[in-house]
Amino acid sequence: MKKRILTGDRPTGPLHLGHWVGSLQNRVRLQGEYETFILIADVQALTDHFDHPEIIKKNIREVVADYLAVGIDPDQSTIFLQSMVPEIAELTLYYLNLVTLSRLQRNPTVKDEIKQKGLQESLTAGFLIYPVHQAADITVFDAHLVPVGVDQLPMIEQTVEIVRSFNKLYGNVLIEPQAKIGEFPRLPGIDGKAKMSKTLNNAISLSDDAKMVEKKVMRMYTDPTRVHPTDPGHVEGNPVFIYHDLFNPDREEVEDLKARYVKGTVGDVEVKQKLARALNHFLDPIREKREKVIADENWINTILVEGTRRARAIAQTTLQKVRKAMQIDYRLM
Ligand code: ATP
Ligand code: MG
Repeated sequence: MKKRILTGDRPTGPLHLGHWVGSLQNRVRLQGEYETFILIADVQALTDHFDHPEIIKKNIREVVADYLAVGIDPDQSTIFLQSMVPEIAELTLYYLNLVTLSRLQRNPTVKDEIKQKGLQESLTAGFLIYPVHQAADITVFDAHLVPVGVDQLPMIEQTVEIVRSFNKLYGNVLIEPQAKIGEFPRLPGIDGKAKMSKTLNNAISLSDDAKMVEKKVMRMYTDPTRVHPTDPGHVEGNPVFIYHDLFNPDREEVEDLKARYVKGTVGDVEVKQKLARALNHFLDPIREKREKVIADENWINTILVEGTRRARAIAQTTLQKVRKAMQIDYRLM
């Protein structure tokens, strides 16, 4: 039997280049080798968008369209909606007894997000426990592998701890998952911030048109120490060159630009124009496929309905095993 993959995205906005290098690329590569489950995390998205549920609703179709556009094949990968598999919520509740409050408060990604979103005073219990919810997402499908960006490593770590506690207490029921980090662990945003993110307004979306890509690239953050094109610049850690390395297949051009940048014989404009061209070349076929997909509303619905049915059947089987192990499989009727 094939091993399983579980991974997913919050439907909070269109997917971007960070998703491609962090996770999507691995999903496309591995979907033949693993039985793949891709979860649209609408319940998790509610943890910080509960006051604007319309954002989540609107983005579900967009995310499915992004998946299909980059090459996720619905015949190989099961795409489903988290809210329509209530077994995940039930399992979350059982797991909450296995995690201490102080452990939740120590999760470094959650700590960063609390700071970044300014949630200190208004931090909800729902937000703080979302890593436990994620542990339920992964384990309810007996997933071995989770293709994710590096910000998700603490979540996988917490999942493994929960699995170990559960198995020790109730018997060997759950599978310990492993993270699979993408080609680039954390793609920086166009503003130079450490992570390109849907909600930070610093992303190049897979669905951006060519003009938009050009505009975003031209205002990209580069090397702050370089004021004039004749100043020697830094290539290392410079988002423009990180993107060139990942998306420009013309190695010779990239090496030439880097060499001239370090010497101070090329301007940002030329580096950026060449990057915009490479990115548009990469995005052209994705945009073309996406247009066809988004026009076919029935197709997207069918994928979600069938995917959710398949996913739910597996989640129900796992929950039966879990309840039995926990001695809460009462037969009263
Ligand atoms: P939000 O701003 O709503 O949190 P996001 O851009 O962080 O959105 P998520 O849906 O939270 O995206 O993340 C989905 C997956 O994509 C995760 O595995 C995450 O690690 C990966 N990912 C997201 N952004 C990046 C990035 N900039 N670099 C690498 N991987 C990323
Ligand atoms: Mg995120």
